[in-house]
Amino acid sequence: MNNNSTNGEWLDIKRGIETICKKFPESYWKTLDQKRAYPTNFVNTLTKSGYLSILIPEQYGGAGLPLRAASVILEEIHRCGANGAACHAQMYIMGSLLKHGSEKLKQKYLPDIASGKIRLQAFGVTEPSSGSDTLSIKTRAKKLGNKFLINGQKVWTSRAEHSDLILLLTKTSDSEEQQKNLSLFLIDMRPHLNKSIIIKPIRTMINHSSTEIFFDNLEVDEDCLVGSLGSGFKYILDGMNAERILIASECIGDAKYFIEKSKSYANDRKVFGRPIGRNQSIQFPIANAYANTRAAELMVKEACSLFDSNKKCGEESNLAKLLSADASWQAADVAMQTFGGFAFSEEYNIERKFRETRLYRIAPVSTNMILAFISHKVLGMPRSY
Ligand SMILES: Cc1cc2nc3c(=O)[nH]c(=O)nc-3n(C[C@H](O)[C@H](O)[C@H](O)COP(=O)(O)OP(=O)(O)OC[C@H]3O[C@@H](n4cnc5c(N)ncnc54)[C@H](O)[C@@H]3O)c2cc1C
Repeated sequence: MNNNSTNGEWLDIKRGIETICKKFPESYWKTLDQKRAYPTNFVNTLTKSGYLSILIPEQYGGAGLPLRAASVILEEIHRCGANGAACHAQMYIMGSLLKHGSEKLKQKYLPDIASGKIRLQAFGVTEPSSGSDTLSIKTRAKKLGNKFLINGQKVWTSRAEHSDLILLLTKTSDSEEQQKNLSLFLIDMRPHLNKSIIIKPIRTMINHSSTEIFFDNLEVDEDCLVGSLGSGFKYILDGMNAERILIASECIGDAKYFIEKSKSYANDRKVFGRPIGRNQSIQFPIANAYANTRAAELMVKEACSLFDSNKKCGEESNLAKLLSADASWQAADVAMQTFGGFAFSEEYNIERKFRETRLYRIAPVSTNMILAFISHKVLGMPRSY
């Protein structure tokens, strides 16, 4: 893979992804969506081409590229009408392992993740009674000698059925200082499946391979602990900036997809003997979505640039996610209106992408929680919770 980047544009990567996506056209995604099936061939192709391991340092078999390269990959996948959700977790949870994992853990897993022998695609944080309120999770890891015994339940753990490893957040103590009660584990699920780990798929409005997972006396070696005991929440917060930036990149890709589709359809579709795109009531919403997408894109680039220079980027990552999720949702709605009745037909893929892009205003972090972050942490207003 060529590492050339001009102004963070990574044109070689963009072209490479576009070439791969042409082999997986929208008909491929439509069929998978109808069957709620995992895009195994697409994920394998990306893996073999080295795109999924770009954040893994070269010494472990990856390309050692900055987050901006991952951001370009995910944006381009989405711009082409595909969906990076099948494999994006490997990129956004990689930071926790790279920054805080022991050398032993990295040696054990990173080369196999980089080569595609094993997959790290599952991230278990959310539980039935704690989504936005991460500190209130109940899944418990109890220390027993040199082992941990894990019991509890996660929900919405996406891709668990298609992942070998899971990065799992658990409670390890009940101290007054809630933030020190959580610990992070990297667990190989394979030996425990259908015994102490039960995975049940959740049928959802999008094809996202989401599941609920039950841990029943799961015994893991203490080496599975990422970093130190009681630091899990800190590590998760640390990794969230990368997650927000990468999801924002997918939103930018979605928004560009909708704008391009809307523009083409508005130019082609004739009603009352002329293209509907001649009406400003059709043109202006598309132009407005374009303006908002470009503005959000600038924030994504700024967040990436700060992240990749190891500078503080909490505000920018949150703003990038907020603005991009709003921009993609606006562009999706504009596309629905532009396509009229045909937007509802599965044939045009607009309804599929419309459903898919709606997720980002809720997960992995909801728009409300970002606004709360900006109010409390950036503007210094009183906490509401
Ligand atoms: C398709 C899908 C895939 C997912 N994949 C994963 C995954 O792989 N791993 C994982 O761990 N999780 C995953 N999630 C979970 C996701 O991160 C949560 O759904 C999200 O964090 C919101 O939590 P919740 O659904 O429990 O909502 P809740 O926390 O119950 O909140 C419900 C609503 O109330 C609002 N709200 C709550 N408190 C406040 C407040 N104080 N002020 C203002 N508004 C508030 C929220 O913003 C939200 O709009 C996924 C979810 C979905 C739908």
